[in-house]
Amino acid sequence: MFLINCPYCGEREQAEFSCGGEAHIVRPKNPPELTDDQWSEYLFMRKNIKGIQFERWNHSNGCRRWFNVARNTATDEILKIYNMGEKPPNISGDALDTPSGEPEIGSGNISTTYTKK
Ligand SMILES: [Zn+2]
Repeated sequence: MFLINCPYCGEREQAEFSCGGEAHIVRPKNPPELTDDQWSEYLFMRKNIKGIQFERWNHSNGCRRWFNVARNTATDEILKIYNMGEKPPNISGDALDTPSGEPEIGSGNISTTYTKK
């Protein structure tokens, strides 16, 4: 459980919110021209990073508005909250993505790397 600072309501418990998954997914401009693999990649394939990830969140038990969050998924630290339609913040510096510096993907027992055919 962690707190999220809704840009419209203020700080609330995470239980009031719903995560809408990865942010900044752009719909292809020419869907009829895509292969089934390309279309399914757009629809279903999302990053599941252990580290800093940009996500869409909805204050589903509050104002019901959407916003973007830059969150470290390893620590649940929220690094930035910004409006829908804004570009992702440039988060860099000396801070490690994960507390012990392990790689974002494949640091568990199961590899999550997606290999395109
Ligand atoms: Zn709200």
